[in-house]
Amino acid sequence: MRIARYTTGEDPAYGIVTGEAGEEVLLPLKGDPLYVGLVPSGEAPVPLDDARLLAPVIPRSKVVGIGRNYAEHARELGHEVPAEPLMFLVPNTAVCGPGDPVVLPRGAQEIHYEGELAVVIGKICKDVRAEAAMECVWGYTCANDVSARDWQRSDGQWARAKGFDTSCPLGPWIETELDPAGLRIRTRLDGEVVQDGVTSDMIHGVAALVAYASSAFTLLPGDVILTGTPAGVGPVAAGQRVEVEIDGIGTLSNPFVRR
Ligand code: MG
Repeated sequence: MRIARYTTGEDPAYGIVTGEAGEEVLLPLKGDPLYVGLVPSGEAPVPLDDARLLAPVIPRSKVVGIGRNYAEHARELGHEVPAEPLMFLVPNTAVCGPGDPVVLPRGAQEIHYEGELAVVIGKICKDVRAEAAMECVWGYTCANDVSARDWQRSDGQWARAKGFDTSCPLGPWIETELDPAGLRIRTRLDGEVVQDGVTSDMIHGVAALVAYASSAFTLLPGDVILTGTPAGVGPVAAGQRVEVEIDGIGTLSNPFVRR
């Protein structure tokens, strides 16, 4: 099931996306389905074309990023593959939605796209075992872990490089029924395919990542885990557009601007 967050000019609402491609509608839900379940609001369906999609989730407490989780990507940047998942935190203020402009931060010169599968946590979990970790997952969406490489190198810490405002586009919606293994993930820069990977190439899979993250942090409903990017990262400039497409989910598309 695809759960979107959207607006038609009023307050943000949640809806189930249904219908044939090109003729989808949103079935409005009551409140936030993460907290109240899937309760239809009784309002009329909204054609998808009449709504503006928003980030499908605003993480309640955090986005947990995973670095170097595809061997080819670690190599392309000249790094060893870490023995254990390499975690970093992204503030929830970095999250933006499908179609939202990613604003290149002043002072950074080398901004890269990173197409990724994002995991949305559905219930509180702490020290969950990998065998039980999938019960804590609500669904999946596409992410772009936009990264300022010059800040990443100069700061040592990745907070600014991967946590500046609008650096974490998520969307277009959350798919709740999906096997995250073996999904093709493609990133396009102005229409040209620049990353073409498959999630089965992750060094640590989704269950292992949820378990590992929960051993350090209590994960709350709505928290997000970015599972790492396949090979093919590269620079993106103001005026360009990046699309991240994942099998079984859809396409996240964002223009890049400088202000
Ligand atoms: Mg990344």
